[in-house]
Amino acid sequence: MTHPEVIIVGGGQAALSVAYFLRRTKRSFLILDAEETAGGAWCHAWESLQLFSPASWSSLAGWPMPPVGERYPTRSDVTDYLTRYEARYELPVQRPVWVSGTEKTATGFRVRSSGKAWSCKALVSATGTWRNPYTPTFPGQPDFAGLQLHSANYVDAASFAGKRVLVVGGGNSGAQILAEISQLADTVWVTQQPPQFLPDDVDGRVLFERATERWKAQQEGRVPDPGPGGLGDIVMIPSVKNARARGVLLSRRPMARFTAKGVVWPDGTASSFDAVIWCTGFSPVLGHLAGLDVVGTEGRVAVNGTHSAKVPGLWLVGYGDWTGMASATLIGVMRTARSTAQEIDAFLG
Ligand code: FAD
Repeated sequence: MTHPEVIIVGGGQAALSVAYFLRRTKRSFLILDAEETAGGAWCHAWESLQLFSPASWSSLAGWPMPPVGERYPTRSDVTDYLTRYEARYELPVQRPVWVSGTEKTATGFRVRSSGKAWSCKALVSATGTWRNPYTPTFPGQPDFAGLQLHSANYVDAASFAGKRVLVVGGGNSGAQILAEISQLADTVWVTQQPPQFLPDDVDGRVLFERATERWKAQQEGRVPDPGPGGLGDIVMIPSVKNARARGVLLSRRPMARFTAKGVVWPDGTASSFDAVIWCTGFSPVLGHLAGLDVVGTEGRVAVNGTHSAKVPGLWLVGYGDWTGMASATLIGVMRTARSTAQEIDAFLG
């Protein structure tokens, strides 16, 4: 299919969710995905990564994630689910295809990959953030002689056994990686602010309900009263609870600078480390949209809902709250995936 009505760039959970709703519109569409296999960023997450919601709260539209017993789903549960989801709905995906650029044409868009091109009338960008890890800069950082690794590339704790490891970042990635590595290595945890732990009986379900309450309040123009906690707060999954019991979940504020051997703290004392793991998040992957001149200085695109405010026919899905509350989660992307498919159907007339 080189001239589908709609092209979706990216083949992760957000793309599949839009595709599920597009199927209902009978529009022709094609997903172009850079990965070798299905699953999007989940293909690259570390071995022990666990979701912060149970399977029933980690589902895309149409087909709930199969139950996995009492435990939270793992990375492989998610990649298996997304693979089977794609097959179940016979979603048209071409992979591996790296979309290198997109241009506006008189009739819609031209989408390019090495040696190939497609045209379409409507374009959806669902490229996520995983391929754009964010690492803050500190004085002296280039001089640090130890290993520096972003959580995007962390696999497991084995290679850190017996080492001194600095874990930087106060979200779920930081907490889960610290919990794992601290069983084999000496660890120090650095967070900008004191970490926000959710109560043991609160997990992604409650977070999603609170995020939904915020969204409803926004829609109704009233001040939200969702209670404490947001999607960035740390869910006490079993491994993180175990780390708490071991007294590991104590964090300190950031270092003043790096040296070849480690860091110097604001009080002038120094600590040596063999490795630093940056659990400092990600930014949207939008390089393929450069030709449309829509990416702002803050690395986002101005949107009305998910529709580009500047380029008619361009939608962005799954990038987090700026493209819809909780849209960077399996269950949260459904709302904006549905509205995007409906808007595209209306746009194509
Ligand atoms: P991705 O999964 O990143 O998929 C984007 C796809 O686009 C990828 O296949 C990529 O290769 C492709 N792509 C990018 N650029 C191009 C290009 N130029 N051309 C072609 N293809 C391209 N979410 C939950 O719902 N529940 C959780 O419990 C949860 N826990 C998490 C824990 C951690 C530690 C982290 C880091 C994330 C967690 N998430 C969770 C969030 C979730 O993993 C991501 O938000 C999700 O993967 C985003 O899906 P996506 O489809 O938007 O992007």
